[in-house]
Amino acid sequence: MPVVNQVKCNGCGLCIDVCGLKAIVRVGSKVTVIEMEKCSWCIQCEIVCPTGAITCPYEIVFEEHPKTDNR
Ligand code: SF4
Ligand code: SF4
Repeated sequence: MPVVNQVKCNGCGLCIDVCGLKAIVRVGSKVTVIEMEKCSWCIQCEIVCPTGAITCPYEIVFEEHPKTDNR
């Protein structure tokens, strides 16, 4: 899920405004993404963040496919 760097976050709230699914909530003066079941991974929060505090890391998983028969 999106990760918020609490040191870089200045609490501007732009990510909260841009998140149409309301997955980001404020905790104290900073924000934390805690409702991952709501997150659609649209990465708008990462794009809008002026300090680069939000990152949406992803993992590439390689899957083995069964061999095709080319006869
Ligand atoms: S990736 Fe999209 S849905 Fe998820 S928290 Fe960010 S803005 Fe909201
Ligand atoms: S947009 Fe970035 S700096 Fe602003 S509240 Fe969200 S995470 Fe923090």
